[in-house]
Formats: sequence, structure tokens, C-alpha cells
Amino acid sequence: MQIQERIEFLKNEINKSNYKYYVEDNPYLSDFEYDQMFAELKELEEKYPMFRLPDSPTQRVGSVSEKFSSHTHKYRLYSLDNTYNADELRAWYERVCKEYEQELELVCELKIDGLAIALTYTDGLFSFGVTRGDGVVGENITQNLKTIKAIPLRLFEPKNLEVRGEIYMPKSSFEKLNEEALANGEKVFANPRNAASGSLRQLDSKITAKRDLSMFTYTGIFEDNDDKQIKTHYDGMMRLKELGFKINPNIRLVKNIQGAIDFCKEWETKRFELDYATDGVVIKVNNIAIQKDLGYTARAPKWATAFKFPPEEVTTRLIDIELNAGKTGVITPVAILEPVQLAGSTVARASLHNFDEISRLDIRIGDTVLIKKAAEIIPKVVKVMEDEFHSNRPVYKAPLVCPACGEPLSEKDGEVGLYCKNPDCSQLMKAKIEFWASKDAMDIEFVGPSLVEQLYDKGFISNFVDLYRLNMQDFMQLDLIKEKSAYNIYNSIQESKTRPLNRVLTALGIRHVGKETADILAGEFSSLDMLADATIEQLEIIDGIGSIMAQSIFDFFHNANNIKLIAELKDLGINPTAKVAPKSDKLTGKTFVLTGTLQNMTRDEASAIIKSHGGKTASSVSKKTSYVLAGENAGSKLDKAQNLGVIILTETQFLEMIKE
Ligand code: NAD
Repeated sequence: MQIQERIEFLKNEINKSNYKYYVEDNPYLSDFEYDQMFAELKELEEKYPMFRLPDSPTQRVGSVSEKFSSHTHKYRLYSLDNTYNADELRAWYERVCKEYEQELELVCELKIDGLAIALTYTDGLFSFGVTRGDGVVGENITQNLKTIKAIPLRLFEPKNLEVRGEIYMPKSSFEKLNEEALANGEKVFANPRNAASGSLRQLDSKITAKRDLSMFTYTGIFEDNDDKQIKTHYDGMMRLKELGFKINPNIRLVKNIQGAIDFCKEWETKRFELDYATDGVVIKVNNIAIQKDLGYTARAPKWATAFKFPPEEVTTRLIDIELNAGKTGVITPVAILEPVQLAGSTVARASLHNFDEISRLDIRIGDTVLIKKAAEIIPKVVKVMEDEFHSNRPVYKAPLVCPACGEPLSEKDGEVGLYCKNPDCSQLMKAKIEFWASKDAMDIEFVGPSLVEQLYDKGFISNFVDLYRLNMQDFMQLDLIKEKSAYNIYNSIQESKTRPLNRVLTALGIRHVGKETADILAGEFSSLDMLADATIEQLEIIDGIGSIMAQSIFDFFHNANNIKLIAELKDLGINPTAKVAPKSDKLTGKTFVLTGTLQNMTRDEASAIIKSHGGKTASSVSKKTSYVLAGENAGSKLDKAQNLGVIILTETQFLEMIKE
């Protein structure tokens, strides 16, 4: 392709995606692809400036829609240059420092992935708020902004200023909003950013008020003489906090670019613990006089840049849909993908959840799909990217029979998904054995899916009890297993015989009994036999055990096959007893939520301590929470606790509490 043609192509693609992204809140490219095209266009225009036209997207920011009345900004709003690469960050820093012949202090902030807005305050009162739009003109959305609690309507002091910030929707609220939309057959949003933007740009502010939106303020333009004395961006941020704005707590002043790179590295993984989306780090020169001196390009400040995290979302081609049977017999469809780089690793498989999801998204083999990696380890397919061939591809049909044993599949009352009900199905048995050996269950270090597959297919085992009957010679008959590995495998299996009752209960895979429930049961019963003798009534009165669970536990221990299985386990030396009885009942009736990194123990260990003193743990903060135990870099749970007035404990205070 000729240079000019390529430039034209990139311009059109970028303009088209800008419209989809900024106006329709429905992107058709992933951000990573967009950024790559943008970087290519910028590079070509720099090399061949004769082809750069004033309407190029590299010369402008965003887009304005005609939904709301427009408002011309008093101070222009810019975008940010970005890079995915630490060397380019260093090059940017060298460029800015060169003129001043000194290392410049930098402020690092998380780049919140939301929607930019500018708020104007007159004598401390919120007067109006406008979207960034194209940087010069934005949409006046004051009424909608007034519904957001993080936006102060009156400041603590009667000040005149304009602030800029990012409106975002917490990830958990985004998931909930999409679940509700799905249930009502409405449109779902592709990500929290689109959900925030779509919610904020509603013509009816009652709808906005129902959506959980918040805002982090990241800049202030002070107009009163005393505030004009503020010399650094960092001090400006502290002043904003003092005036009543919500600023992101993860802000750091660093001496030079190395400090900024360290901050970026740290947040590359820690970002998944946050309940809001961040797509990078914004690095700003701290000194305001130097910022003014450095100035702006056509679309971005020269005194700031964004380091973008490896993409959490990319597009790739769906090659096939594989069917796997889980330990409950549920058949899960798995996307087999053309391998791509995602958040720092190569991805070739992704979750498709269930067959309803495939038909809802109308996923067809051969489609280009958007995949996403968030807190969960396995990436998931989020949507199909529009392309002209999609409608020619055959609609995907859910299977009628189990891919492993050929048994007809059926649905279960009240549950999504298709199930294989054949208790002897090979895939089901393998899944059960894999689960038995997994980390949360019996934690058998050297037994993983591929070993289970070989052992099962070669006839060495037909259930997990058989693992304990194998000797070293058996393992040495498998592919690529020599004496040392055989020894390790054998030992790890034997060693697992001593696992406590809660782990064995988890590993048994009793329906509705996960790790948490297994912990509760092990706190009430001291052996498998005692639990097997419990009546439904005895089970139901236990706090945390509902009637469905109680029935399922009772049924499990009264099933002939399971009675035999447990007898075999006991014969082989697996007869667990509960861990030590509670050390005290000091925390009885108290519910803890843990957040952040603790110094002297892991969160699991802290949970164990709480339980051993009769307390309970929960995963989210509510009015019922008694305490939040907060470590370093605590996330949104801490904010929520503060809002609800829940008592927050440091690790030292917690340890004191136990000691007393
Ligand atoms: P941007 O979002 O990359 O960066 C600029 C924005 O960052 C600012 O306007 C501000 O709102 C925000 N920001 C968040 N935290 C900040 C902080 N602490 N300090 C300062 N600013 C902060 O730029 P943009 O111009 O809004 O959008 C361009 C980006 O949007 C692209 O790089 C791409 O990732 C995405 N995009 C994607 C598509 C698509 O089709 N997928 C289309 C258009 C844009």
C-alpha cells in the first residue's frame, strides 16, 4: 500500500472508531488495536508531514455528540500521549529534563479508565460540569453530574476553581448492571468505561441517579490568589482533597523516572485488586512553572505522559469451541483461539461460560472476538467484533450428547447449562480426580491435569481413591516419567493423606459444598463419620448452611457409592479429623472483611485466626460488617468501610485484640 493510502486508511479507521467509542459508547476495536493504529499514523505523519492534514485524529481529541447543549471550555482539555514501553518513558523524561539540566520530580497517578469531565465552582458552589468533548467544546451535563455523590455540591471553603476528573463505574456495579440488563433483555455494556459514559450521558438524570458512578479528581485550576501560590502538582492535589474532592489514594511523588517505572511495574499486577478499571499510570512533571514552560502539542501536554498497562483486552480469531465436562457433569464450552498476547502472557483458550452466553453473543466459529483478562486467571470472551462475514458463518448449535461418553445431555432445574448425568463418564471422572488433587482441595503438588489424563486413559486409576493405591513403578510406566519424578509424585500423594477434614470435604466435591462451607462443617464436626451421621435438621441449624446444602450433604453421605468410597479412603489411611477446636470465642458474632496486604501473615492465615476465635469472614463490606482489617494498599473496601462507619483495624490492633 502507498504511504498516502495507508495514512488515509488509518485516518478513516480511527475516525470511525472514535465515533463508536465516544458517541455510541460501543467500541468495535480493542484499545490496544486503536493505540497501535494511532501510533502508526503518528509515526507516518512525522516522517511524511506533507500528508498530515488538519482533520487528522492526531491533531484532535475525542468527539462531541449533539445530545446535550454544547459548552465552550474556558480552559482547553487535552488528551495524553501514551506508551506501552518503559524505554519510551525514559526517552520522554530525557527530553523534558534536557532543557533544565536537572532531574525533575514526577507525580505518578493511576490512569482511571472512565470519562473526563471539567467542573466549575464559583464561591465554593458547584455551578456546571461539562464533558471533555473535543477538548474545546463539550456537552453540558450538569444535572446528571449532580446525582454523583463523590462530586461535592459545596466545597469546604468558598473557592473559585475548575477541576478535572474522571467519572467511573466500579467494576462490581458494572457487572451487576450488565446482569440486570441481561435479565431484562437489554443492551449490555462492553466495559466499565462504556457503562460510565453511557450512564452519564443519559437525557433523563433519574436514570443516571440509579447508576453507581463516582469520580476521582486529578487536576485543579485555582483562580483565587492564595491558591495560585501552589507551586507543585502534588500540593495542588492535597489542596483539592482539603477542599472536599475525592482524589485517588494511589498517588506517589518520585525523584526521577526510575521511581515512576517502579510505580508502573507495581501496579501492573496490583491493578486487578481494585474495584475500578485503570488502564495505566499518568506521569506528570511536579513543578507547575516547568509544566507551563513545557506547554502542549496539538492534542496533549508535553509535561505529562501515560504508561499503558499490557492490554487486558485484545481481539483474536475463534478457531473452535471445545467441550469440557466439569466435576458436576456440567459441559462447559471453551474457546480455542488463535494465540495472542494478553496482559503479558500468550492466550490460546478462553472461557465462554455456557451455551446461553454463546447464543446471546451470537458467537460463531471463525468470528473475531474480543477477549478480556481481569481479576480472574482465565480470560473470557466478551463480544464478537462486527465483520462482514459473520452472518455467512453457521450459527453455533449446542451439543445434544456428551462429547466424552455419548450420553444425551440434559438441563437441571433452576440452573444454566447442560449436564452429562452418566456417573461413569470418563471426562467427569477425570474432572473429579483433578479437582481432588487441586490446590484448594487435597493440594497434591505433583498431580495435575495431564498426569490424571494419562493415568486414567492407561487404566491405572478410575477414581481418586485409586491414586493412593499406586506405587512408584506405576508412574514410571507413563510417558517421560523417570525415577525422580515418580518419587515426587508418589510422595506428594502419600503426604496428602494427612490433610485436615475441611480439605477432604472440599475435595469430595459434594454439591453446593465449596471451600467456605467445608470450613464451616469442619468447625462443627470432628470427623467424616460424625458428619455422615448428622440429620438434615442438625445440619440446617448450622449458621451458613441452608436447606438445599443440608439436603445435598445428607444425600451424599447416604449414597451407596459414596459410603463405599469413604470406607475405602479410611482403609487407605485417609480419615481426617477437624483442626484444633476454636482457641476462644472472643470473636463470636463478629464478621471481618480483609483488604490490602498484611505484613505478618497472609489473608488466608488471618482468616484462619479469626475463625479459630469464633469469628467469621466475608468478602464484601456491608452494614453487617463488624470490622475491616486493612493492610497496605487497601482498595475500595476501605473506602466503603469509611463511608459506612465500619471500624477499621490495623494488623497490630487486630493482633492486640486476639491477645487480650
Ligand atoms: P486517554 O484516555 O488515553 O488519556 C487521556 C485521558 O486520561 C484524560 O482525558 C483523562 O480523562 C484520563 N485520565 C485518567 N486518569 C488521569 C489522571 N490521573 N491524570 C490525568 N488524566 C487522567 O485519551 P483519550 O484521548 O481520552 O482517548 C484515547 C484512548 O481511548 C486511546 O488511547 C484508546 O485507548 C481509547 N480509545 C479507544 C477506541 C476504540 O475504538 N477502542 C476509540 C477511541 C479511543
